[in-house]
Formats: sequence, C-alpha cells, structure tokens
Amino acid sequence: MELIFATNNKHKVEEVQALLVPHFQIISLHDLHCTEDIPETEDTLEGNALIKARYVYQRFGKSCFADDTGLEVEVLNNAPGVYSARYAGDDKDMQANRTKLLREMEGVTHRNARFRTVVALIHHDKEYLFEGQVDGFITTQERGRGGFGYDPIFIAEGMEMTFAELDLSIKNSISHRAKAIGKLVTFLHQLY
Ligand code: IMP
Repeated sequence: MELIFATNNKHKVEEVQALLVPHFQIISLHDLHCTEDIPETEDTLEGNALIKARYVYQRFGKSCFADDTGLEVEVLNNAPGVYSARYAGDDKDMQANRTKLLREMEGVTHRNARFRTVVALIHHDKEYLFEGQVDGFITTQERGRGGFGYDPIFIAEGMEMTFAELDLSIKNSISHRAKAIGKLVTFLHQLY
C-alpha cells in the first residue's frame, strides 16, 4: 500500500520507511514533484499537521500523513511551541533560534521543557492524530555537534548529554518523533 508522507525531509522518510513492514511504501513530496511550501497557518501543532495532510490528500487523493514538532518550554508558557522554526525570524535560522531561547532563559532556574510531535493521518477520508513527547530541560549553553535544531540545548530526562551529543541512533530511539511515528506504525499494522 502506498502512503504519502507530506514532507521533503529525506531523513524523516527513511526513518519511517525503516519502521514499516514492506507492505507499505512511503512516497515523499519530492517523489511527487510537489515543491510547494504548504502554509502552516494554524496556532497548534495538531492544526498545522492537519493542514499539511489535508492539502496533500486533496491534491493527490491518496492516504497520507504529515508531522509537526515544537519545543515547549514551561516557564515561557510553552513557547516557542508551534513557532519553533521561526522563533527568531522568518528565515528559520536555527542558531539564532537557540541563541534567542538561551537569552530568554538567562537566570531562570526552572528549565523544564519538552519536544512534542503530532502526526496527522488521513486514510479513507478519516482523520487520525498521534502524539509523541520527550520531557527534559534546557541547558545554559550549547553542547554537541550532532542532531539539528534545538538539539544542542536540550537534555532528555534521565540523560546527561544533550540530544546533539548523543549517538543519533539513541536519540532516534527515544525521540518525540519516534514515539509519534511508532503509534502511527502500530495503527497501520493493525489495519493491514
Ligand atoms: P518540524 O515540524 O519537524 O519542521 O520542526 C519544527 C522546528 O522544531 C524545526 O525548526 C526544528 O528546528 C525543531 N525540531 C523539530 N524536531 C527537532 C528535534 O528532534 N531536535 C531539535 N529540534 C527539532
């Protein structure tokens, strides 16, 4: 069965394909020559994941899913949250985003935060949501060169290393995205 993953991120596609039994073939937007930047205009992760999935479902008429992730910092009322990619500006500069967050947190002792991913699936005209989260806290300075995004300033609960210092396979086994995708995969495997 073919399933569209509404993303252009090749790493995410490979990660999901590896988790699915061969019966499912993941098609990316790149495979469909769909280069549009689908507007993410909602103010929740759920809303934005659904926007992307609905857009692709209407355009290509095939079962599809989309994901949206945010870093939620408790003391900042869960900001940057759904605005994580554009926290410091529309150019999505991740170094600027991290620097801004560390500055906002200067002198703050309560540093609890979580990564949260929502996956929206549309299958046979029905919509389903799956969520994964990983709790942790924000460091006071950047550490590590691996990963991407906010990884150098996030430590998961029970760990000492930041996500950017951890081996990628370890991060991918405990991450918010892995948990949300794991729920999607379990659901799909139960259906077929
Ligand atoms: P997206 O929904 O996957 O595009 O993620 C939104 C923003 O959250 C991106 O700009 C990333 O920088 C950040 N982000 C998403 N997943 C991760 C992660 O696993 N580690 C660090 N940052 C992430």
